[in-house]
Parts: sequence; structure tokens; C-alpha cells
Amino acid sequence: MWVKWRKRLRNFTRHGTLAVMKIETRAIHSGRHTDPATGAVSQPIYLSTTFERSPDGEYPRGFSYSRENNPNRQALEQCLADLEGGAEALMFGSGLAVATAVVQGLEAGDHILAPDDVYWGLRKVIGDMFGKWNVEASYVDMSDLERVRAAVRPNTRLIWTETPSNPLMKITDLAGIAAVARAAGPQVMTLCDGTFATPVLQRPLEHGIDLVCHSTTKYLTGHSDVVGGVLIRRHDNYLFERARVSQKYGGAVPSPFDCWLTLRGVETLPYRVRGHAENAARVAEFLQAHRAVETVHYPGLASHPGHAIAARQMAAGGGMLSFQIRGGREEAMKAAARCELFIRATSLGGTHSLIEHRASVEGPASKTPQNLLRLSVGLEHADDLIADLRQALEAA
Ligand SMILES: *Cc1c(COP(=O)(O)O)cnc(C)c1O
Repeated sequence: MWVKWRKRLRNFTRHGTLAVMKIETRAIHSGRHTDPATGAVSQPIYLSTTFERSPDGEYPRGFSYSRENNPNRQALEQCLADLEGGAEALMFGSGLAVATAVVQGLEAGDHILAPDDVYWGLRKVIGDMFGKWNVEASYVDMSDLERVRAAVRPNTRLIWTETPSNPLMKITDLAGIAAVARAAGPQVMTLCDGTFATPVLQRPLEHGIDLVCHSTTKYLTGHSDVVGGVLIRRHDNYLFERARVSQKYGGAVPSPFDCWLTLRGVETLPYRVRGHAENAARVAEFLQAHRAVETVHYPGLASHPGHAIAARQMAAGGGMLSFQIRGGREEAMKAAARCELFIRATSLGGTHSLIEHRASVEGPASKTPQNLLRLSVGLEHADDLIADLRQALEAA
């Protein structure tokens, strides 16, 4: 019975019926099939860099050389495209390799609109790498659509969004951004960095956004053990095609093992994200009620300025939050230092809970409040996480 069902599912996959199944099912089955040579249920890791040609010189199985394509990368790309409701995905060696491939697809003199609190690495890519090619950028508060509309220029080619944002968890109205781009003309593409939300909570393509990217380093892999990134498209567009060239010939590709590990992580993604979000909601409520805390930034809280939009475009508030402690930098650093369960480290989306003083990571130019701490809420029990924060906030 089970074997039969698996076979049917395989056929369904081919004919697209899997697309109507729920995300928990697709996270496990999309892009996968039982290994035809051995019956292995978990896809083997294809370390081979090169693949045999048929006597007529063709590559009948679709693989020739692993920089161009590899069975493990293909399975992961198909699965991630499916989870986002997209047509196609490209895997890269890191989230920033994706950003580089996208910005590289623009022409000299083109203009990008990006959030003023965008992931700091994107500013580096635009300024330090492509500034010499005259790629211009302006950074605006994307939680204000009027400002976005006013900042569009005749040479704007890309509106880059990131929601929720880092570290203030600001929410951008994705359908609103898509409408601004449409009104500006077909030359303006939109992209959403959905790393903080994952396709379990938010699917930007459904709101009319053209491209989605993720640092798969974070929730998608989910165990803080692989660096990677993905770009996903809804329909044909030239920036995706140029990124494809960059993947093939720029060569910033992930290894087969990295792809295998990421795809393994994705199997449990819907359950992990639900656990992260439930824990974060409890931690946020605890912090909000604590006298040592000034403000909590969590889109799942009704008091968050982006809550109404988040409730429309996200299934839950996610696993990331930040809070401002009463006092300044010193009180924040001390509280982080006293944590015993939360690990003081950067990055996010893994099973371990992490705490970070963002202003000191971002350096002297940082606009992040000095009393702010960012949490990546992990999958430990919420009671233990709350107890750790309580002792960190209440110790003399
Ligand atoms: C980590 C991160 C990136 C960069 O990804 P890497 O995999 O570290 O290169 C980009 N955007 C967001 C929102 C991130 O959190």
C-alpha cells in the first residue's frame, strides 16, 4: 500500500499534483524521488564532478559538470521553488552570493531602492563592489510606501525589500511594494529577502513580488551548519536569467554535500518554524511584561507598528525578535553576558537560541539603539528560555 502510494506521489509530482498538497508534505517530497539505481529513500550525495555523455555526445540525464548542475543541487532548487510557489530557483554558495549575482545583473548607472535597515552586507555589495560601476542606491524606510513611491527614479530598476527587517523587525507591505513597482513601469523589478520569515510564514511571490531570496544559512538549513543562498523567480525576468549566468560562470555554487544537508533541513522546516514562532511569541510576551524592558520589537505583538500588515501577509510572527532594555549599552551588554542558555553569537534560524548586541557588531556607524538586544529564539523549551532571560535581567 505504502509503496503504491509513494509511486502515485512520484507520478503526481511529475504532473504537478503535489502543488496542491500542504507545505509539510511538499517540504518532504518536492524535488525528491526514490533513487532508481538502489531504492535509497534519502537521495545519495553525488560527489562526481563530471557525468558521462552518450555515444552521440549528448547528456541524456541532464548533467554534464557539477558547476553547471548537480543532482543534489537540482533537487534542492526544485523543492525551494515549489515551497515559495515559484517557477524556478538557483542555489548559490551564500546569501550574499545571491545578492552579488542580482546586483551584477544590473547595468552601469542603474538605481536600486533598498530599505534603510537592509542587511548590512547588501550595502557592501552595492557600494564596495558595484559602486565603481556606477550602480546607485538609495535607502528608504520601506514601512512607508509613500516614501518608496517618492524615491523611485527614472533609472530605478530594482526595489529590494527585506521583511521582517533586521534588527527592528520592521514590516514592509509586499502587495503595496508590488503596486508601486507596477505603477512605475515594467522596467522596475521587485525582490524580497524573506530570510527572517521563510516560505512557511510568508510567500512574497503570491503578493506580486518578482523575485525572492533567502540566506539558506538560516532557517532553511536550520542547524547552523551550512552557508548558502537561493534566488527564486515567479515568471521570466532578465535579472533571474542574468543570475543564472552568474551561477554557471561566476561559479559561486554550493557543494553537493551542502545541498544535501540543506534539503535534509528543509524536511522539518514547517515544524521547526512553528516551534520557533511559538517560543518567540512566549518570549516576547514575557519581555513585554518585564520592568527591566523598555520596548519589544516583534511583529506578532499587537503593539508592533507593522502588526496589521504582518497579520495579512505572514502566518505568524516568526522566531526573531529584538528588545530594548532600560538603560544603555552597558546594561544591554551585561544582560547578554549573564545569559547561560542563549549563546552570544551572530546569525539566526538554528535550533540553538542566540543573543546579540547588534550595535557593537555593526560598529561605530550603526544606527541600532545601544540598548537593543536581538534574539534568535531556538527550539529549546520556552520555559527554560524565559527562565534564562529572567535571571539575566534580574541578577544584581
Ligand atoms: C544572513 C543574511 C544574509 C546573508 O546571507 P549569508 O548566507 O550570510 O551570505 C542576507 N540577508 C539576511 C536577511 C540575512 O539574515
